[in-house]
Amino acid sequence: MADGLIVTGGGRGIGAATARLAAQRGYAVCVNFAHNQAAAEAVVDDIKKGGGTAFAAQGDVAKERDVARLFDAAEREFGPVRYLVNNAGITGRIGKFTDLEADVMRGVFDTNVIGSLLCAREAVRRLTARGATGAIVNVSSTAATTGSPGEYVHYAASKAAVDSFTIGLAREIATQGIRVNAVAPGATLTDIHAAGGEPGRPDRVKGRIPMGRLAEPDEIAPAILWLLSDEASYVTGAILRAGGGF
Ligand code: NAP
Repeated sequence: MADGLIVTGGGRGIGAATARLAAQRGYAVCVNFAHNQAAAEAVVDDIKKGGGTAFAAQGDVAKERDVARLFDAAEREFGPVRYLVNNAGITGRIGKFTDLEADVMRGVFDTNVIGSLLCAREAVRRLTARGATGAIVNVSSTAATTGSPGEYVHYAASKAAVDSFTIGLAREIATQGIRVNAVAPGATLTDIHAAGGEPGRPDRVKGRIPMGRLAEPDEIAPAILWLLSDEASYVTGAILRAGGGF
């Protein structure tokens, strides 16, 4: 049986690219989505057409009950989940920090931080109960170290929390054969910029990236898949920057 992998927010952007590549590499993929079922089903259809194994499952990662339901659904579909990519994430509205509403801050921390913590806790509890090994990759951001001034200070802070959590959890469970790492993408061509309120952001920021361009989601997915794989067997608590030099 193929190894079970949950990709949160796997219907679009970096998550979709990760789900597709994972299926090509033989994982059975649970493509999680929050609202956009059509996008998640399209990823699943593509995977199945290519001979892979996948199914779509709704669930808000920030909700404890949804997370348990998500893991239950994946286990029913293809057995124990050994791998998790904590990819679901939002930026909230772009702009000056002092103009930001408390609800936006809370929403971003709920999805990016609490969502990643809840999914990782569920994965580790279930792996530990079975005495199984596995791997988790958290999708952080280069913003965690730049702070994203004038744009996404709150979001950058949430990704710094993801980095810190990656290191702490990795060290806490290092002897259990469960590795925890993060990939920190730089600006990547997905819907996230439009969702933040500035669809033209990619063009505005590309000049500050040493490579002079944004990433395609397909350029981030291989880094995530490498950290999940046995090729990274001695790598845990690492934060792999994929930012075009940024
Ligand atoms: P995207 O295209 O906007 O897709 C976001 C995905 O997350 C969607 O599939 C969405 O589900 C899902 N999602 C959002 N909130 C959720 C929740 N509460 N529960 C479950 N799923 C949820 O974003 P992206 O650019 O691919 O971003 C993916 C990850 O990369 C995020 O963690 C982001 O912070 C990080 N990142 C992105 C960039 C960039 O420039 N794009 C740079 C650095 C880091 P629906 O489809 O159902 O809405």
